Amino acid sequence: LSDRLVDALGNLRSKGKLTAADIDSTVREIRRALLEADVALPVVKAFVAHVRERALGDEVNRALNPAQQVVQIVNDELIRILGGDQDRKLQFAKRPPTVIMLVGLQGAGKTTLAGKLAKWLANEQHTPMLVAADLQRPNAVTQLQIVGDQAGVPVFAPEPGNGVGDPVRVARESMRIAEAKHHDVVIIDTAGRLGVDEELMGQARRIKEATNPDEVLFVIDAMIGQDAVATARAFQEGVDFTGVVLTKLDGDARGGAALSVAQTTERPIMFASVGERLEDFEPFHPDRMAGRILNMGDVLSLIEEAQRAFDEEEARKSAEKLARNEYTLEDFLKQMQQIRKAGNFKKMLSLLPNVPKELKSEIDNFDDSALIRIEAIIQSMTPQERNNPKILNGSRRSRIARGSGTEVRDVNDLVKRFEMMAKMMRSAARGENPGMPGMPGM
Ligand code: GDP
Ligand code: MG
Repeated sequence: LSDRLVDALGNLRSKGKLTAADIDSTVREIRRALLEADVALPVVKAFVAHVRERALGDEVNRALNPAQQVVQIVNDELIRILGGDQDRKLQFAKRPPTVIMLVGLQGAGKTTLAGKLAKWLANEQHTPMLVAADLQRPNAVTQLQIVGDQAGVPVFAPEPGNGVGDPVRVARESMRIAEAKHHDVVIIDTAGRLGVDEELMGQARRIKEATNPDEVLFVIDAMIGQDAVATARAFQEGVDFTGVVLTKLDGDARGGAALSVAQTTERPIMFASVGERLEDFEPFHPDRMAGRILNMGDVLSLIEEAQRAFDEEEARKSAEKLARNEYTLEDFLKQMQQIRKAGNFKKMLSLLPNVPKELKSEIDNFDDSALIRIEAIIQSMTPQERNNPKILNGSRRSRIARGSGTEVRDVNDLVKRFEMMAKMMRSAARGENPGMPGMPGM
């Protein structure tokens, strides 16, 4: 009867759900990381609530500790909101020219982006043309012409000095020119203000109506921080857009604006601008951005390594044994071997985020030879000794020390640490103390 009971309990545990306690401390860290990355507060709140809800129902993944598991859920969610694993490609018109219109605040990087896109498209065998529909600032047209020269792409602009100041007319006119000159893509640069502005928003709307663009790209500076939500919303309501380009990602912004904009507008982020030169431009990668936003050491590669190394079946067995109070030196040996199989254990430890200082110095002083010594000692024990360390009297201990080329002191030390560890793991298995088990031998 008691065996069946224990089995039932073991099953319950191995089929368990993440608990609120498992989740909350990690979620607090995530919230902090997101705020530090300058994700807008309402976005952080909604995101964290959603992650918590998703994590609460989740099956416990035996290969990960609960914190790692929550981080993995967070990462999955971030990637999903940032666009998933498919790159969103530019939509090309069935009948050229394809029209791409750029909108955004002044200084966001629209004109620079126009040159980058033009150059990139030209490399892909397109024949783009740039259109100067920013007639707000005196030097805006000249700036676009310089960029066009660098990209080797022609620029359509109003004749200087004939008093034409209507960007809507310029944009409409450019459609005709593009067709006549067989440009298959037209990139329209527009004006912006330092703040959202009704007059300019109306102008952008009229340019959009006049040219019926295939893509309207909202260009936003990654450094904008908390203002990202309001700005993105204003442009979505004012002109609406089909995609987002994040600029100045070469700076030290952690990229919270990406999450703010993606979550608020549900529009895909398509490109990243990563410098002032025309080559500093790339398709947007949600997974990289998720990592940048979290910035929690290289938590994810840590999770991957742990997953690879950890044999699920072994994990299940030792969990059951733990529930039955049967964790032995034999299991301990297997775990040591798995840890060594995982490769550079020290590197793995160093990747853990938020490691307390004391533990950090232990990690620095740690070397794999300690693991090897532990393995040697256990291997010098008989199966009975491994399964029941209580029988390890003085003469057995000195025999083991001789057999493993260590001192009795080392054997005593290992047994003591093993007992501590077994106790800790038993309470962890009962859900009392989730987290990384302590490392004996350290
Ligand atoms: P616009 O007002 O939206 O047309 O913005 P501009 O294209 O004129 O860019 C404003 C400033 O930001 C210029 O000095 C650009 O060189 C700079 N800039 C644009 N994109 C990037 C980028 O990705 N990284 C960096 N570091 N600077 C950029
Ligand atoms: Mg400009």
